[in-house]
Amino acid sequence: MAGMCFGTTQEPPVRRGRERLRRVLAVAFLATLLAAPVLAEAPRAPTVDPDSVLRITFLDVGQADAVLIQAPGGRTALVDAGRDNIVPLLRRFGVSEIDLLVATHPHADHIGGMAGVIAAFPVRFYMDNGEPHTTQTYRRLLAALDARPEITYLEASPRTLTLGEVEIDVLPLLPRGTADHNDRSVTLLVRFGEFRAFLSGDSEVRQLTHLMNQGAVREVALLKAPHHGSDNGFTREFLNAARPRVVVISVGRNSYGHPRPAALRAYEASGATVFRTDWHGHVSVQGRESGDYDVSFGREVGAVVVFDD
Ligand SMILES: [Zn+2]
Repeated sequence: MAGMCFGTTQEPPVRRGRERLRRVLAVAFLATLLAAPVLAEAPRAPTVDPDSVLRITFLDVGQADAVLIQAPGGRTALVDAGRDNIVPLLRRFGVSEIDLLVATHPHADHIGGMAGVIAAFPVRFYMDNGEPHTTQTYRRLLAALDARPEITYLEASPRTLTLGEVEIDVLPLLPRGTADHNDRSVTLLVRFGEFRAFLSGDSEVRQLTHLMNQGAVREVALLKAPHHGSDNGFTREFLNAARPRVVVISVGRNSYGHPRPAALRAYEASGATVFRTDWHGHVSVQGRESGDYDVSFGREVGAVVVFDD
């Protein structure tokens, strides 16, 4: 089931990562070099207490976004739902209900799978940017919500939500009608003690600048690369403020050239180590209250193990 290879002396440049992260990355780096990773050693069972870990998993859903947040104690949020049906994948990750479902913006690569999710799982809260769209995919999502009146709707306005011990800040949006869908992506700062993650949807330069001007960008351990690693998904000022240690790019086969070389260079220049779902499969970051974290990944759900000893 697993496709991991343990043990290599070759390490990618990591300027600010912790020792444990370096070991993880050594594994990650080697795995990217292997067309068919070899299982050299049985994967170890996670040694961390799952109740004390916030797990944020970037699901490998091709050129699309689906980010699963599993808080200590079992509360669950899903930010975007891919382009296609992700229900079986969510079940394999242990999802049986969703406390908070977020559509960052109504493009098909973010909401295509959402109607299926709403039909398949109990959902407590649904949040979006309040801006309608004209597509069939969006209408299908609305119909799914209409069929589940017990779901509480939240428009994304600045507020802090709690997901068990995890706090999620909803960051300020540009006013409705003043920006295109990407630049009105719902952006979230996920906090668990000292561990912080920034989830960005498809934000482009204008929204990132807006967030900077609002003082809403803080230093984070983890950044979801805005807009699939597009040229317009970063600014130097934003990266200087966020100073991410890990950047995850949710990306698949595409005609846009995502991730763009300039974006990759900017992430690496910021000192971050980059993971991408097209290379690493599902990428999971386990954050602890201390701010410490691990990264694991794999194409098979069973292969996503915590690298820790
Ligand atoms: Zn997108």
